[in-house]
Amino acid sequence: MSHKNLLLPLSFLPRVGPTIAKFLQNLIGGNRIFDLLLHLPNRAEKVLILPRLFETADDSLVIIRAKVESHQKPKTSKQPYKVTCYTPTGFISLIFFKIFPSQISKMPIGSEIAILGTLKKINGENQIVHPQEIVPAEQIETLSQNNVIYPLSSTVSQKFLTKKIQESLSKLNEDDVDWIDSKLLQQKNWPNLTRALKNLHNPQGEDDFSPHNLNRKRLAYDELLAWQIAVLMAKNKGQNHKKFEASADKNSIKEFLKSLPFDLTQSQLRAISEISSEINSDKKMLRLLQGDVGSGKTVVAIISSLHTILQNKQVCVIAPTTVLAKQHLQYFQRLLREEKIITEILTSDTTKKQREKILNNLSTGKTHILISTHAVLEDDVKFKNLGLAIIDEQHRFGVMQRLKLVEKGQDVDTLLMSATPIPRSLMMGLYGDMDISILAEKPKNRQPIETLVMSAKKISQLYQAIERAIKNGEKIYWICPAIEKSEDSEMSDEIALANVTQKHEELVKIFGGEKVRLLHGKMKEKDKEKIMAEFANPLGTAKILVATTVIEVGIDVPDATVILIENSENFGLSQLHQLRGRVGRSEKKSFCILLYGEKFGLKQRTRLDILRNSNDGFFIAEEDLKLRGSGELLGTKQSGFPEFRIADLSFDSDLLKIAHRNAQL
Ligand code: ADP
Ligand code: MG
Repeated sequence: MSHKNLLLPLSFLPRVGPTIAKFLQNLIGGNRIFDLLLHLPNRAEKVLILPRLFETADDSLVIIRAKVESHQKPKTSKQPYKVTCYTPTGFISLIFFKIFPSQISKMPIGSEIAILGTLKKINGENQIVHPQEIVPAEQIETLSQNNVIYPLSSTVSQKFLTKKIQESLSKLNEDDVDWIDSKLLQQKNWPNLTRALKNLHNPQGEDDFSPHNLNRKRLAYDELLAWQIAVLMAKNKGQNHKKFEASADKNSIKEFLKSLPFDLTQSQLRAISEISSEINSDKKMLRLLQGDVGSGKTVVAIISSLHTILQNKQVCVIAPTTVLAKQHLQYFQRLLREEKIITEILTSDTTKKQREKILNNLSTGKTHILISTHAVLEDDVKFKNLGLAIIDEQHRFGVMQRLKLVEKGQDVDTLLMSATPIPRSLMMGLYGDMDISILAEKPKNRQPIETLVMSAKKISQLYQAIERAIKNGEKIYWICPAIEKSEDSEMSDEIALANVTQKHEELVKIFGGEKVRLLHGKMKEKDKEKIMAEFANPLGTAKILVATTVIEVGIDVPDATVILIENSENFGLSQLHQLRGRVGRSEKKSFCILLYGEKFGLKQRTRLDILRNSNDGFFIAEEDLKLRGSGELLGTKQSGFPEFRIADLSFDSDLLKIAHRNAQL
């Protein structure tokens, strides 16, 4: 056995067929055993073993031994199946809203069983709703005494995931040669790979979840090393030179600039000149266009595209979501209305027939600009002569994905666009000496966004102001925490969903169903697009959009002037700044209202005050990094940085340098 096992597909594990492999893959973001092992628990719960029921607190995780007294079948479909058991310290009911015959047969009346589950005290009755495990009493030892909790999806259960992870761990060998130099391991006091993985999946205490934990640090280093190697590979691919022919017709671009509905800012003009002089030269471009939310990156992308098209080459723009790609298509087509430029879109929900036609137009060179998502990375998507790859919200794409797009042409220039300013302290370490253009100013017609922090309880005080804004033709975002992979199985997924849907219902009652729309990540792409389009339409009836953070990236609705964020204390600062950037996109005065819930102390207030007092994305990102680096909190995503699984740059930036050096070696 060797580390080679890490690269085996998930289907290699027992009882993992294609369907389950797919479910797992959606959860862990990869299809190999290694991906599964990098899916780390986010906490462990201590199990109370054989506690005395009458003195055990509500919500404790317990292992108990009990004798089955009776089964009570439901009389209506709403009632649960109930099994009553006797223990020397009190009776307990096992409650099942759904039960299989195989489960019933594990609990014959009169038998002794051992149960693992969460104890609930309801009206003086001890209950366990859906016990995690039930075994015959003599097998009590087999129940896990340290309950490790993994982030889950609705299709993968805690128990199944834990089992598959333990099976995978058993395939690792401690004696395998490590890829980290043994000197470095020693110097840092890091465990070898196998040890690190085993420790992290079998946590013994709080320290195992600390950002400074050596097992985690070691894996973070592995990840940063892989990143650095990929960046270097992308950079060294091909030469730095390309063939190009100076185009004769620069006038058409001048004409285009005149036709724009606004004057470009100085920063935009500078960025365009930096980009176009590289496109119109024999240097191959690899450039990051960094600009705070709303600074107008898209129009820079359009003008860059024109330069490439004038050289008879094609352009591909990719965005992380279909909604965003659609929005780009509309924006490109609107601004390029007068030009004879053919822009098409390819996403995962393009029909087969359309797709065929689009691929044909691409390969014959009929299409000038293709707007797309990950869908463009498929092998059968071929360009006649791709000259420029524009990657919007670039941190949402991996280096290898970028590379795959760039390889669809010869001599392709690359323009990466990023909304979250990456603190200067990290830029070098992450991207080496990549060229950068910065949009440092916002378009002049903007008023500063006013940010307010208030208790969610006082929300009704704002209803009138909201009505007024609606009457003025303005639009409102109402953000609830995301529906995302949550820790407590299906339940909290549903709770999160309940949050947005409940808010939606509430607001419908207040403002009327005509005006209020709902948008969340669990909806079908088609429905999401429809809702977004309705909301974006200045003449449409949709005025309030109740949404999860799916709207975080890039959405541009100039009429939106108010954004309310529920439970804002749970978001990262950079993420809040991104959300806030959805308003203040026109000359109208805009407001960002940060609502907080029950648990709100000085610490949370100080954090939100940073946002209230600053509109500078760079500053906010630095502060975010500092706050998080000093805290102990792992796992709240910092938007805008490359999405690492283990590494967190608030804690691990010291490792970047070492990784950079070793990647070069
Ligand atoms: P981002 O940099 O966040 O991607 P966008 O490109 O979506 O920003 O631009 C935000 C809005 O600002 C768009 O509606 C765009 O048309 C507008 N805009 C861009 N540049 C200017 C400008 N120089 N003057 C006024 N409005 C502009
Ligand atoms: Mg954008």
